[in-house]
Parts: sequence; structure tokens; C-alpha cells
Amino acid sequence: MGHSLQITTMLVPSSKYGIKCPYTMTPSYITRHDTYNDASAMSEVSYMIGNNKQVSFHVAVDDYRAVQGIPYSRNAWHAGDGSSGTGNRKSIGVEVCYSKSGGDRYTKADDNALTMIAMLMKQFGIPATKVHYHRHWSGKVCPHRLISMGVTEAQYQQMVQARYNEMYGGGAVVVNPVPVTGTSYKVGDTVSINGVYTSSGSDKKLKPSKTTGTITKIISGARNPYLLNNGNIGWVNDVCIVGGGTTATASTTRKSVAIIAQEVMAGKWGSGVDRKNRLQAAGYNYSEVQAEVNRLCGKSSTNSSPVRKSVATIAQEVMAGKWGSGADRKNRLQAAGYNYSEVQAEVNRLCGKSSTSSSPVRKSVTQIAQEVIAGKWGNGAMRKQRLQAAGYDYEAVRKEVNRLL
Ligand SMILES: [Zn+2]
Repeated sequence: MGHSLQITTMLVPSSKYGIKCPYTMTPSYITRHDTYNDASAMSEVSYMIGNNKQVSFHVAVDDYRAVQGIPYSRNAWHAGDGSSGTGNRKSIGVEVCYSKSGGDRYTKADDNALTMIAMLMKQFGIPATKVHYHRHWSGKVCPHRLISMGVTEAQYQQMVQARYNEMYGGGAVVVNPVPVTGTSYKVGDTVSINGVYTSSGSDKKLKPSKTTGTITKIISGARNPYLLNNGNIGWVNDVCIVGGGTTATASTTRKSVAIIAQEVMAGKWGSGVDRKNRLQAAGYNYSEVQAEVNRLCGKSSTNSSPVRKSVATIAQEVMAGKWGSGADRKNRLQAAGYNYSEVQAEVNRLCGKSSTSSSPVRKSVTQIAQEVIAGKWGNGAMRKQRLQAAGYDYEAVRKEVNRLL
């Protein structure tokens, strides 16, 4: 679905690394902030780069664009958990603009931030469970506007997962541990890359001419330790390497049976004995996958009408708010021929613990409707998603809003 975002890179000069981002970093978490200000992303980043305070963040997002100010391979000072804190040393700081006054600009910026965070999750293999509020690290009431709207961190994680699913087609985020130093790959490894540098010390990441290459030389300890194709491609570091190599294939990236079955149906695993061999070589249980394929095919062929979706796909749609909530959700799923308990079990599995921590204090429909009118729940699709994520019946709230107005 069409989520896109203009990203402008305006990086701090390396002469200021000592103040703004002294340590190299392997991003493993993402931290969500509100700026508590009313300035644009461009202003926030120029101000951050321009001053000499030990305060920094990687990217600011407003209603038009995202502006990156610190390389993702370096730390930034935004989490308030000290010089060796996980937030400050392992997380990408994302600031959302216009939170002070809120309103449409903030609503749009907040929506853009979901897209930005999903992109970072994809790029660095960070799961939604590692997307945290600033408050998680230091207790500071940040992002203040989301918190005051009653959006919990667990709900926010569901929202970023839903956005990720919309953008990248679902499935669990592959956790691809990116090693810190330049010793994870060896000469001769073929790797997939998402960027390249012109020298082993350069900090200017460029778009590579090819997305795969072979490591032909390693300078251990260098910023970009791996030379690809004898220099015909350039230099890369562990953060640029997104696949391949010996470590990447060893740490298996497990897909669910449902996803593999869909890939089989899409022809990605060949057919007959070839399919069987390939699935087994990749470590999947052939009979299990085949049974799922038969189940999926069986239904869709008899049903000639709409194509049957897998439980995993439907569960993701449920999380994205497409099936309503409560009794309404149940009725709609059953009317469409899905097994409600099966789907709900998958939703609970995907949400993990967040489902048990459902919101503490239940507000009445009228209270929520008043909050909606006061602008606390944003508007449009965002409002719907938030209300549903918080467990409210969107339709009921909408009707009450109309009644009150
Ligand atoms: Zn913050």
C-alpha cells in the first residue's frame, strides 16, 4: 500500500562526532520521541547539528519529510539513560515534530513516523518489540503527546507492526544480528549490500552500482572494513551488508509455514521433487508446507470466487484494524468464512504479551467521543487505527461523536 516518505540526509560533519555521536553503533532498537516543540524537521536537525550540546538524535520527522542528522552507524544522545545506556548506545532516535501544539501537522508527522520506523525496522532487522518510547529508557514522559492520548507502548508496537506489514507484506521481521566489528565475514564471501563507500574510512554512504559483491580484502578495525570486487564496487561495513556471507546464512531466518506455502503457490519453490528438495535443503518440513498449500488451494478452487487468505494474513489485517473489533470483528470474520478462534489465536501470538496488558482504565464511549472532538485521537485512518488499537469500538465512537456534534 502506498506509504512513502521523502528522506533528506543532512549529516553532522565528522568534526562534531565527538560531541554528537562519539561511538560506533549497531542499531538494535528504535526510540520514539516527541520534540515538545513546534518546529519543522529541517529546523530541528539544523539546530541539533549547529549547537555544541551533547544532545542529538538520528532523524526528525514532520508532516512533509524525514531529515536524518546522524549516521545510523553511530550513537546519539537522546534516550537519557547515560553514556553507556542501551537507549543511547544501541537505539536509533526518531523525533516527531509539532508535538507541542499537536493538530493536523502532528497527526501527519506521527503517521510519517510510522513509515520511517517501518523502513528502519526493515533496513536493520529490528522487530516491533524493540521499538520503544523514550520513557522506556529513562522514565521521561516522552513521547508526551502519544502518552497523553493514552496510546501505550505496546499499542504503538502493534501500530508499527501493522505499518510494516502494509509496506512489506507481512511476516515476522527477520532478526538479522549485525555484528559490530569487521570480523564477521571473510574474504570470498558473497554479500548483499544496501550501500557503499568510496574508501575504508569514508562516512558518506552511497547507492551501490550492484547490490551483491564478493569480499576481496578486509582491513580489520576500519570504518568500512570490506573491499568488494577488488574495488569495482567499493567498501562496505557490517551495517551495509544485508544478506549473504557465512554468518548470515547460518543464523537462519525462519519464515512461517503459511508464508512459505504462499511462496510455493507463487511458484518461488519450483514443483515436484525439485520443490521438495529445495524446501528440505532450506530446513522446512515439506509435508507441513504441502499440507498448508493443499489447504489453501483446496478452498480457493472450490470457492471459485474470492481468493482465500491465510490465517496469518487475516490476523495481520485484524491488527491493522480492517476487521473492526469485539463482536463486530467476530461476526465479520465468521461471515467471510474464517475460523474466528484460529485468527484470534494468531493475533494473540503476533501481539505477544501486549494482548494481556490491554488498557488499564476503560473510558466510556461518550468520554472517548469528547476526546475525539477535542482532537486527542487525530483524524481519518489514524484516528480509527488508534481507537481500535486502544480497544474501542470505532463505529460506536463515531456515532457518538455525530450525536454530540
Ligand atoms: Zn524524547
